[in-house]
Formats: sequence, C-alpha cells, structure tokens
Amino acid sequence: MTLRFDVEATRGQARAGEVTTARGSFSTPCFMPVGTRGSVRTLSSADLEDLGVELLLANTYHLMLRPGADVVAQLGGLHRFCGWDRHLLTDSGGFQVFSLEPEVDDDGVTFRSTYDGSRHRLTPERAVELQELLGADIQMALDVCPPLPSPPEVVRLAVDRTAAWGARARRAHRREGQVLFGIVQGGVDEVMRAESARRTVDIGFPGYGIGGLSVGESRAEMLSALAATVAELPADHPRYLMGVGDPVGLVEAVALGVDLFDCVLPTRLGRHATVLTCDGRIQLRNAAYRRDERPLDPACACRVCLRWSRAYLRHLHMVGEPAAARLVTLHNLAWTLALVGRLRQAVVEGAVDAVRAEVDAAWRPGVEQG
Ligand SMILES: [Zn+2]
Repeated sequence: MTLRFDVEATRGQARAGEVTTARGSFSTPCFMPVGTRGSVRTLSSADLEDLGVELLLANTYHLMLRPGADVVAQLGGLHRFCGWDRHLLTDSGGFQVFSLEPEVDDDGVTFRSTYDGSRHRLTPERAVELQELLGADIQMALDVCPPLPSPPEVVRLAVDRTAAWGARARRAHRREGQVLFGIVQGGVDEVMRAESARRTVDIGFPGYGIGGLSVGESRAEMLSALAATVAELPADHPRYLMGVGDPVGLVEAVALGVDLFDCVLPTRLGRHATVLTCDGRIQLRNAAYRRDERPLDPACACRVCLRWSRAYLRHLHMVGEPAAARLVTLHNLAWTLALVGRLRQAVVEGAVDAVRAEVDAAWRPGVEQG
C-alpha cells in the first residue's frame, strides 16, 4: 500500500487533512517531535503517546552509527525497538552529515562519525537501504543541503544533485509498507526553489519534503522560498517543511499550505528552562518566577500545568534536578501540539487569521531571540 492523503478542508492555501499509510491514519497539520537517537530527550515513547503524538521523527545519521541500522533491523525494526506503534518518519541522515563539512561528489557523501571519527559513506541508495532496515513508515530521499547564505553556483549544484539523487533513491526504494518522500532544495532563490520543486515532482513521490530552510535565513526569505516551492507542489500530496516548529513559523507555513513539521525547538528550549506560553516565551531561571504560584502557562491544560507551579519548576531547574528538563519538555511539546491542533480546527472553521493575529501579538516581537 502506498500513502493516501485526504484534504478535508481548505481555507485559502491552508488545509486540514488526513494521511493514511499501511500503519493507519494521522491528522494534518501535524507536528512531529524529534526522537534523535530513538528517543525524544528526557521522554519515553509512553510519554509521547500520552501527549497524543501521532508521528515521530528519528535521525538515520545517529541510528546508523549507534546502535547500527542492522542491529535495529535484527531487533525487529525501529517501532519494536523503541516500543512505539504509531507512525515513524526517518530522515536520510543528510542534514546532519552536511553540517560536518563532508566530502561531496556526484555519487554521494563521505563523512567522519561524531562518535569515534570513523569514516562513512552515504549515497542515495545506501540512505534508502539504511532506512529500509530501520523500517519507519515514511523515509526521506538523500538531498544536498547547502548552508545559507551560499553563492548561486553552490545552490545550483545542490539542486542538480538533489534531483539526481532523488531519482536514484526512488529507483532503489523497494520496501513494502513504507513510503519515500522526495526533497526540494534551492536556497532562498525563488526561481531555484520552483525549479527544484518541479524536478522533484517530475520524479514523482507520495509526499514532498521542503529542505534547506530555517538554517539562518531571515523569516521573509524563508517565507518567499516556501511560497515559491509550494506553488509547484501538487495539492493532493502532503508537504513537509523540515526543521520548522517555532510558533510564528508554524502559523505562517500552515497558512501557505504546509502539512507536516518537525523541530527540536520545543524540546531543546525545555531542557534549558525556556517555556512556550500564550504570552510568548519565558525564562524560568529569571528571579521573577521564584515565588510565582501560577502554572507555566495558565491557558495550558497539560499535565504539568495542571499540577505544578512556575516556582516549583524553577526551583528544580536552579538546583539541577533531572526532572526539571523533563517536565518543561513535556509542557513545551503539549503546548506546540495544542497550537497545531488549534490551527487544524481554525482551517476547518475559517479562523486561521484569528490564530495568526494572536500568535503574532505574543511572539512576533521575540521571534529573533533564537
Ligand atoms: Zn502546560
């Protein structure tokens, strides 16, 4: 079985839909937490179930090195290994590898492991093979992700190689019950974005990743590149904006017709005592919260907010209790999932602009805080 995507409601370019695979269905827009090494840091797969996570991302780069894709396969695949029976998506490993200044040629990429310095080779075919061993429901083609800003010839080469590698990945992909998404590159150049999107669509995939954004460009550059990409993607296939998950980015991208997101932001911030709230972010270590009996976000209905105060959670962070990172991570993920759920409802009810205005008012001034 391949992937089915049913669009249930549209409002402007925004859409609410449902993705169905061999494993079952999940709703879109959908935010996937990042389970880097087979676990979202500080959480278990049982926690993610309780949070209502429907789709989880795992990083091929880390899992191919530790414990090894063959080990995961021998243990029954990533779902069984992680104790997770909902949807899983694996990336190709390319994003991490390209951050290591690897040797790239037309055939693939050679890099050194951040674990032990050993040399490894990733090609489009090998990335497919590794992800077939891991056995996620959705896998991603290996792409070339240039840093931004990059000169035009670097972006051109990345677009050409990404298209060639996408075609090779598609030819190599065999595993039943698993689908392969292509990836669009093109930097922040709208013409290159449109070309890369058309070439990826020509190869033909059940879904499309939009890569190479949220890597240091301005918000305006990201949105114009995103709009140029989406304009060339078919309406009846899911679109996945890779690496975006801040509140303003989520709202803007949903409004442009994006369906899937992943981002380390909510979990990374949570480990560092930064809390997502309806009034923007707060830094819990600030002395102002020492005697604050309110929940992290008074408007949040998550289990952390129903039970503990800012003062208590601040105390745990100040004394370095391990539970501190875990509890704020739980809240930040619940908060992000609730925002995406509200956006879905807003698409159905035609209220996207109202949610956008609310998020803008709380978050726009702090957007560049990083
Ligand atoms: Zn909460």
